[in-house]
This record gives sequence, structure tokens and C-alpha cells, in this order.
Amino acid sequence: MRTTLIVGTYLLASALFILGLKGLTHPRTAVRGNLLGALGMFLAVVVTLVDRRIVDWTVILAGLVVGSALGAIVATKIQMTAMPQLVALFNGLGGAASVLVAGAALMGFGLSEKSLALQYAAASAVAGLIGAVTFWGSLVAFGKLQVLIPERAMSFTGQRVFNAVLAVLALGLGAALIVSPESSGTWYWALVGVATVLGVSLVMPIGGADMPVVIALLNSYSGLAAAATGFVLMNNVLIIAGALVGASGLILTRIMCQAMNRSLTAVLFGGAGPPTEMKMTADEVYGGKVKSATPDEVALLFDGARRVVMVPGYGMAVAQAQHAVAELADWLEARGIEVEYAIHPVAGRMPGHMNVLLAEADIPYEKLKDLDTINPTFEQTDVVLVNGANDIVNPLARTDSSSIIAGMPILDVDKARTVVVVKRSLAPGFAGIPNPLFAADNTLMMFGDGKKMVLELIAALKST
Ligand code: NDP
Repeated sequence: MRTTLIVGTYLLASALFILGLKGLTHPRTAVRGNLLGALGMFLAVVVTLVDRRIVDWTVILAGLVVGSALGAIVATKIQMTAMPQLVALFNGLGGAASVLVAGAALMGFGLSEKSLALQYAAASAVAGLIGAVTFWGSLVAFGKLQVLIPERAMSFTGQRVFNAVLAVLALGLGAALIVSPESSGTWYWALVGVATVLGVSLVMPIGGADMPVVIALLNSYSGLAAAATGFVLMNNVLIIAGALVGASGLILTRIMCQAMNRSLTAVLFGGAGPPTEMKMTADEVYGGKVKSATPDEVALLFDGARRVVMVPGYGMAVAQAQHAVAELADWLEARGIEVEYAIHPVAGRMPGHMNVLLAEADIPYEKLKDLDTINPTFEQTDVVLVNGANDIVNPLARTDSSSIIAGMPILDVDKARTVVVVKRSLAPGFAGIPNPLFAADNTLMMFGDGKKMVLELIAALKST
């Protein structure tokens, strides 16, 4: 009876995870999806506590208090723009938890049994390997995004061979763990040691625009490590939840690879990324060609305009300009001008960054258009207002095969009649390269903070 109840509740929790994920596929159902997922996790935790022999409640309660306090502080303090490093850290902690849980279970098991069942030994080896790679790889990703270590790709000659040797060594240690259970603890921690070096060495050579992809991949790894730990503990809900994280992380990785024109193999094997040498310096690209305009001058462009497209980017998130942009769109629409938003899959600093930001300002989801939908419409667009975006509208991706962003699909805003770019200077974006769009004949730069300039533009429009 008790077992049926436990298994039944685990099944219910798993179903809630799946329904939660389904809910997250659309903004209208996302909040409900989130709540369903949280309810599933709550049930899973409660049932696990009831099911297992609890060694010491005080440790669990102390962990709960410390963890909740840290979570609350981080959730309230963290800036939206620092989300990628926070996600990297969370992935890493998931990997570390798998390493420790599988290690503790294995050592407890090894002490009492002469021979380890194949499943436990194999699952422990997988959890230790993937978990340690995830933890250390995520720490390196965190350090790069937080600029604690240099952001650029760092590699040495023969690094791929070095990584391959480490991977083979790790597999050998995993096999040793399976065939000689009497010293499983030693093999396991040696395996974790090798995986530690592998994790660091895999992520070090990745840098710049590849970082978001590697974070999605590490997210997937953390799920796989958790699923393997589920096999160690024989816990169905952990296996299912881990597999869901693993699969969704892989899907996200694929979407991001496509958005940045990187092959998954290159990222998986620590590819050094596209060439970084630049054909033209910023002076050569901009010299004497950039035209700046005041909000009053830009306001005149909307006279007789029929279609306007807003392009949000990282700078709009920094400026928190979403409400001002929504107000501008309302004003234009009230005068019969069609307004749409162009959403690039890697705009900002995390997947879905712009969607979340625009949803905060209650911008209807139907107005948010993805790259493939919006690109053919730019030729019929009178004014494009680029707010704090740079790399995602850089035509070098189409024209310069030696560029770091070569081949990355971009928003073709340069094809519109007039492009207005709001940013504070000619400083580069995340990829660190100049942008010929800013010097194009049909571009006007409105230099200043993303929110301040849009508010001034609204004031100028109202006074004309
Ligand atoms: P970029 O990083 O290319 O450019 C952002 C621009 O915003 C800068 O050039 C900056 O110029 C401007 N800016 C900064 N603050 C303000 C402000 N207060 N007001 C107005 N402008 C401001 O951003 P994009 O969104 O175009 O591209 C995203 C980049 O980030 C891509 O290269 C992507 O690969 C990468 N990335 C994406 C992730 C994701 O998952 N979405 C995760 C990690 C990286 P200035 O200083 O002159 O104002």
C-alpha cells in the first residue's frame, strides 16, 4: 500500500513536470506551467522524505534554511543581464550534487557488499563523469561571463588530443570501477578527478559568442548526471526529471547553434570558434560616415510612416526601456501605424530574454515576430528602431566570412527604408566587432541611453 502510494505520487510528479514543460511553451500558459512544475517538485520532495530513512532531520532542516536564504538573496539581487552566469552556476551545482550523491551511495554500498551490481557501478561512473564535467565546466563558464577570468577562448596546441586522452582515461576508470568493486571508492574519486580536468579543459577553449551555447549544453549535462544518479538511487522521479532536463537542454543547444550558425560537434568537442581576425578596424568602418540625429529630428521620420519595427537588444534590457518602447508603440498605433517587434533568438544575454522583457511591458505576444517571419518584411518597413542591439543586426555576418559572427543569421534591418539605432556610443556588442550598419546611408544614430532617448522621442512626437 505504502509502496503503491509512493510510486503513484512519483508518477503524478513526473506527469506534472511534463505538463509544466508543455505550459512553458507559450507565454499565456507559462505561469501555470511553472506552478505545475513547482507542485510536481514539491510532491517529489515530500514523498522522498517520507519514503527514505532519514538519518538526521536537523541536517535537512539546516540545509533547507541556508539554501532558501541563499536562493531568496540571489533571486532578488541578481540583474536580468547576469542571468547566464547564474544559470551556469545552477547547472554546476546540479552536477556537483550528482557527483556527491552518487559517490556517497557508492561508498556506502561498497562497504557492505563484496560485489556491486552492474547497474549501480555503471550509473555511478556516468554520474561522476558527467557531474564533475558539468560542475567544473560551469564554474569556468561562470568565471568567463562574470569576467573573473578572460572571456576569450583560451587553448593550447594539442588540446583536443589532451581532451580525448582524458576522456579515454575516464572511461578506463569507469570500467575499473565496474570490474573491481572492492576498491570502487578509489576508482570513483580518481574518475571524478580526471573529469574535473576534462570539464575545465573542455570549456576553456570556448569563448565570446559561443558561451550561450555551452551554457545550454551544460544545462543538458546536469540533467543527464541527475538521471544517472536516479539509477544509482533507484529513484524513478529523479530519472525522469533528469532525462527531461537533459533532453530539453539538448533541444535548446540545437536551437542556439542554429541561431549562431555553429555546429554542435564544434561546441561539443571544444571547437575554438570561428576565425577572430578582423578585416576592418572601427575607424575604417565608421570614419566620417556616421550620421547622428536628435529625438526631434527622428520624430519627423514617423510622418507618413505606415509600418515600424522595433528591434530590442541587450542594451534595452540594461536601460530597462521596455515600458517606454511600449508607450511609443501605443502612440504610433493610435495614429494608424503598424508596429511589430523583431525577436532574434540570441538577443540579450539569455534565451528568451527579449520575450520576458517585452512581456513585462504587456506587449501582446502576437506582435513579437521571429527572425524568419520578420526578415522578409523589412523591405516594406518605413522605420526600424533598434534599441540597444548590435551583433544581431550586424551585416558583417552576411558579408565577411572571416568575421567572428560569419554566417550567424541576423535581422536584416539594413533593408528597411530608414534605420534608427539607439545606443550610447559606437562601442561594440558582445562579439567585440564594429558594425557597418551604424555607418550605412539609411541609418541614423540616436546616441544616448535606451530609455531616456525613447522618452525624449515620445515627447518630441507629442509636441509636433
Ligand atoms: P550586443 O551585446 O551585441 O550589443 C548590445 C549593445 O547595447 C551594445 O553595443 C551597447 O552599446 C548597447 N547598450 C548598452 N547599454 C545601453 C543602454 N543603457 N542604452 C542603450 N544601449 C545600450 O547585444 P545584442 O542583443 O545585439 O546581441 C546579443 C549578443 O550576446 C550576441 O552576440 C549573442 O551571441 C550574445 N549572447 C547571447 C546570449 C543569449 O542567450 N541571448 C547569452 C550570452 C551572449 P553602447 O555601449 O554604445 O551603449
